[in-house]
Amino acid sequence: MGRRKKNSKKFADVTQKICESKISEKLNSAEKEEMKKREGDFSILEDAIDVYQRLKLPLVHSMQHRSPDDSDEEEDAVELNFWPRFVFVSNLCLICMERSEEVCESCNMVSYCTVKHKKQGWLKHRELCKVLTEVCTNEEGLSFLPDLTADNYRVYRLKLIEIVECRLKRPLDLWEKEILLYPRVCCSCRYFSKTLRYCPTCEIELFCENHDDKHEKWCRDLQVFRRVLFMQYRNGHVDPEIPNTFQNSPLYLPDNFDSLMAQLYNRSTYYCNMDCYTYCSLSHISTIPLTALYSMQISCQDWETIDTFVVHVIGAEFQFECINLHVWEKLFLHLLPNLKHLRLIFIGPELRLPAVPLDLLTAVKICLTCKSFGRRVNVSFHPGKFYHNFCHSKQFIKPHLVCLFNPGLYRETGFEGRDTWSETIKEFCKTKVPVCVTSYTKHEIPREIIRIKSIIDVETILEPRRNPFASIKPDRNFVSDDAAPLIYKNYYLTIIKGKS
Ligand SMILES: [Zn+2]
Ligand SMILES: [Zn+2]
Ligand SMILES: [Zn+2]
Ligand SMILES: [Zn+2]
Ligand SMILES: [Zn+2]
Repeated sequence: MGRRKKNSKKFADVTQKICESKISEKLNSAEKEEMKKREGDFSILEDAIDVYQRLKLPLVHSMQHRSPDDSDEEEDAVELNFWPRFVFVSNLCLICMERSEEVCESCNMVSYCTVKHKKQGWLKHRELCKVLTEVCTNEEGLSFLPDLTADNYRVYRLKLIEIVECRLKRPLDLWEKEILLYPRVCCSCRYFSKTLRYCPTCEIELFCENHDDKHEKWCRDLQVFRRVLFMQYRNGHVDPEIPNTFQNSPLYLPDNFDSLMAQLYNRSTYYCNMDCYTYCSLSHISTIPLTALYSMQISCQDWETIDTFVVHVIGAEFQFECINLHVWEKLFLHLLPNLKHLRLIFIGPELRLPAVPLDLLTAVKICLTCKSFGRRVNVSFHPGKFYHNFCHSKQFIKPHLVCLFNPGLYRETGFEGRDTWSETIKEFCKTKVPVCVTSYTKHEIPREIIRIKSIIDVETILEPRRNPFASIKPDRNFVSDDAAPLIYKNYYLTIIKGKS
């Protein structure tokens, strides 16, 4: 451990200098000004490298020379590998995801980088093209779009999917649905035309003749979105190397993900070279333990000294909250030297486990150092179960922190058409422990709080704020796309507590 660190530190100092000089070359003063405005405190960013500065970097390769410390990890590791699905973006080539220059002349809904790829894609596209052309062009299905309200526009697109599926006599794949969910129209007025121009910077957003291509607010985020999709398409999933540090004293999180990473990686070569996609993936898998740790530090008085910590994650979704459990060791346990036993309990009616032996799913990779000190991360899943039922079961253990990540409590539709949240809200408030609630957008959080307060009285420990440990991996927004084209998991955060 010691030797490894020393070597990489020396290396890191050299590359850090190179990185810094390259980055300052790339940034003109206007960009620096913009960054200053965005972050408020420029000094934080001077030694940290944010996602925008990583846009042009090629895929980073893992530096993991396995230390003896990690050597016996194989036995209890389970790899859940799958290739990410294709994502449709109206101005990216259907074959290679490069920027498009050629639009399908028939449907005007899909596009290709070159004539060559257009020809290559035709056979596969022909069947769907015929129906899209009928519905969207010949029957002028897309000509009404500019007149619809935001809500009606959403309903209308879902209706179009139904019509297309009906005429095709088959369900559409997810990426095919995206052709209609995020159609090739002006991003400002939704005008559907053959002659749309794309933004020269992100090369994604489209504009009609009447709208100039000004959309600065989202252009940089869309650049990240595009880069992530492209690298994901080429490389599949990446498995970021999580910073492996041992803190001698409890680490108080800084208010900024970039600063924390700069600090934990000790600005290593790997850190400096990390591309935008890997960095986004890193934040995506770290947002769960880091948001929990951040909430713990705000709301649990004894966070520095406690030796057992129990977290309930309610409404968990396997693919997001349960798939990267090893991160909890490196970014939770290792940052709190006094913590011996971390217990994670995942509950939710929509939690479905893959068909893999349970002991493999719950086994969290633990390093030898942790093992030798008897430290452990204990995981249990309660799939298909409501929290209020779990609370009255034998498996119930009182939590120190309850987490609800992007729950959408305010949506009355609930689970299978029944609103089951009210029972659950009552139960987690009864625990009288801090409850961390996150949401995809700023305006969802007040609605979450209103929902909780409509059931039971609570005190607010942390007023809603931007979560410094939100995922920075963008997702396209459908539910509130009139407010923002992209959304981020755990973007906003609040902490409440049932009144005693
Ligand atoms: Zn292409
Ligand atoms: Zn077509
Ligand atoms: Zn327009
Ligand atoms: Zn742009
Ligand atoms: Zn460890």
